Amino acid sequence: MGFLDELVSTTKNVAATAGKKTDEAVKLSKLKMKKAQTNSDIKGKYEKLGELVYEMAKAGEKDNDNFDAVVAEIDALTETLEDIERQIDEVNGTLTCVNCGAKTKNDNSYCPKCGTKLPVIETVKEEDAVAEEAAPAEEKAETEAKTEE
Ligand SMILES: [Zn+2]
Repeated sequence: MGFLDELVSTTKNVAATAGKKTDEAVKLSKLKMKKAQTNSDIKGKYEKLGELVYEMAKAGEKDNDNFDAVVAEIDALTETLEDIERQIDEVNGTLTCVNCGAKTKNDNSYCPKCGTKLPVIETVKEEDAVAEEAAPAEEKAETEAKTEE
């Protein structure tokens, strides 16, 4: 390999690494924005819940349907938040402790802060490798047999 070839190859590698870093940074900042938005949505729902409780107290009657609906919305948003957190961890190569919320490297088995056992990261690639089972073609064959006379 000549000097120029080597130089080009090195430059390409550097560019690829830089590109990956930029992608991750963009992804991370988008996730962080989404997280902030979801947090503020949740805060808004709590306010709505408080308002509802106040109105219910004033009216002297319970509006259970409306109340349950807002509670369900908060649950859904909390799930979204956990999902965003997981995605952030994935980009950073970190884990969030389910007990204390501390961030740690994803190759740790235990939380360094509180000692809680951390979940093992499953690789998605292995799941993809599982071959799809062939669908049985019996039903179709049966229908065809009936039309034949
Ligand atoms: Zn912990």
